[in-house]
Amino acid sequence: MLELPHTIVGAAIAAKIGNPALSLPLALASHFALDLLPHWNPHLNTELNKFGRLSNKTLTFIATDVFLSLAGGLLIASTVLPDQTKFMYVITGAFMGVLPDVLEAPHFLTSLRIWPIEKLLKFQKSIQNDAPPFLGILTQVLLLAAVFAWVF
Ligand SMILES: [Zn+2]
Repeated sequence: MLELPHTIVGAAIAAKIGNPALSLPLALASHFALDLLPHWNPHLNTELNKFGRLSNKTLTFIATDVFLSLAGGLLIASTVLPDQTKFMYVITGAFMGVLPDVLEAPHFLTSLRIWPIEKLLKFQKSIQNDAPPFLGILTQVLLLAAVFAWVF
């Protein structure tokens, strides 16, 4: 799944559930739950195995996704202001929502192969529910709409 829905769901969980001892682990768990939904994202493994590196087009796509994720996370966090403590929890929730993918960044961006990260990668690959682009984007747009309706 793209990082934007992962971020938004993690942030929304932290914004809606007051207790961070509950919301932050839930935000992390949401990452794996969301990857079970049919979705489309660039196939980084396939590209890496085929060309040895990610294309500039894919890197630009990822950078855009990350930028939108930061903006979306901040937008949801802004709904709990002026409570600055809760604001920090929502930002942390957003981060927990993407943490498994963030941990994989060295695999895709460097030649480092770190055993626990390779394990995580294998696990995440095993739970992905890949869908063709149209359906796979539609599910993520509907998910975003549902979460925004919940938060705002
Ligand atoms: Zn993932």
